[in-house]
Amino acid sequence: MARSALQVFPIPAYDDNYIWLLSDGEHAVVVDPGDAQPVIATLRQAQLKLTAILITHHHADHVGGIAELLAWSRSQGDTVQVYGPLAEEIPECHQGLVARDSLHFAAPELDISVLEVPGHTRGHIAFYLEHQGQSHLFCGDTLFASGCGRLFEGTASQMWQSLDQLRQLPDKTWVHCAHEYTLSNIRFALSIEPHNVDLQQWEARAKALRQVGKPTVPTTIGHEKKVNPFLRCEEDSVMRAVRLGDPQLACDPVSIFAKLRAMKDVFR
Ligand SMILES: [Zn+2]
Repeated sequence: MARSALQVFPIPAYDDNYIWLLSDGEHAVVVDPGDAQPVIATLRQAQLKLTAILITHHHADHVGGIAELLAWSRSQGDTVQVYGPLAEEIPECHQGLVARDSLHFAAPELDISVLEVPGHTRGHIAFYLEHQGQSHLFCGDTLFASGCGRLFEGTASQMWQSLDQLRQLPDKTWVHCAHEYTLSNIRFALSIEPHNVDLQQWEARAKALRQVGKPTVPTTIGHEKKVNPFLRCEEDSVMRAVRLGDPQLACDPVSIFAKLRAMKDVFR
């Protein structure tokens, strides 16, 4: 039997969160449901049966809806499994995951690989899958369109290694980010690389999307390699801009990344 087409779309939550939903038209898996209500509304409207919840890290805006979603699913007679990082405290987690774990789901039919991407939090994980020639990454708060997550718990070295790992995924991989931060990320990116033509064109496209209320994500790994300064720490243009304010700074990517992240933290 042919596998049914996989639909992947964002459910907006809070001010700027995206909860990603994967569905075969009948069953659904959600990633990082920080809020249950918009997920329940979507499941009801599309008449989908929730089968699993995937969690990338422990922050409240990613796990806040788990208990309510489980209770609601139970009231519908459905059993839902929760998967999250083994290294973090995740409410109601049925199975803790580490790097290179793989998950197989029957409905929707999915084979998912687990990546460890510490930096934003100590135990942050990401989910990668290939389905009918398409590759998908669900990376929580690690990689954003033209940006990356803040270093709340991990070190710059850990985060650089995590981003480097993601950078090596196939260029066509769809990157499903957990926040709509794109326009402010692009503003910072242009302050670093004002002459990056891909970035200039991306700004125009992202602005047009936001003007009509559309998400700027998913992005792709190939696109991010052109427009995301945090994946470009080895490019001359990025190194030059970062070392302008700190000429003694070492030229290795971790030092450049650490300084770039610190610059973004105070960028207005
Ligand atoms: Zn977070």
